Amino acid sequence: MVITYPYKSGLYVNLTNRCPCACVFCLRQYAPSVTGSGSLWLEHEPSEEEVIASLDSRRLNEYDEVVFCGYGEPTERLDVLLAAARHVKGMCPGKKVRINTNGLADLICGEPTAQKLKGLVDTVSISLNSPDPDEYLRLCRPKFGIGSWQAMLDYARSCKGYVPDVVLTIVGSPVTTPEVQAKCRAIADGIGVRLRVRPYENLGSGATPPAAAD
Ligand code: SF4
Repeated sequence: MVITYPYKSGLYVNLTNRCPCACVFCLRQYAPSVTGSGSLWLEHEPSEEEVIASLDSRRLNEYDEVVFCGYGEPTERLDVLLAAARHVKGMCPGKKVRINTNGLADLICGEPTAQKLKGLVDTVSISLNSPDPDEYLRLCRPKFGIGSWQAMLDYARSCKGYVPDVVLTIVGSPVTTPEVQAKCRAIADGIGVRLRVRPYENLGSGATPPAAAD
């Protein structure tokens, strides 16, 4: 099964297929893989030892960064994520580590989690998806309900204290209008984090790119 996989200039880590969201645009509904290198559906969730063995089988120097992403929400397995990030930093001290997340880690874990990222994670990329909580609920369908949008923003704010680079992301035109993008930029500015407008990729199904693919 695929635990680590090269994608663009990064080495991606696939920890879980679990996710508290069911985004209407999630790539998982349309394709088994983002890379063509094999299905990202896991036979079982890899143990810490399996993740580390998979990392050890790669030449980390060949990649710009290690990205926890995959076909699920990586903070569903925060303890394994942190152990693997610690291993990467031990093997390759300058290597950048990024998490691509829906930003619901505190709801998933039932406690504040941002401080655990300190010294282990360089970038947290959080899917904002919408400047409006009701639209976010319609698009992402989080199991935690309407409070998820605010929890995601609170998580972004709390990460700022522990992670050098915190990013909110949305999909660009034609999925979002310039007006929506402006509202998202104002939200990011208000929190004091970057906004990244991800390019739209037509998947031939009306789908938009998911956090899991990026
Ligand atoms: S796009 Fe990301 S957050 Fe949404 S359901 Fe898929 S894996 Fe979960």
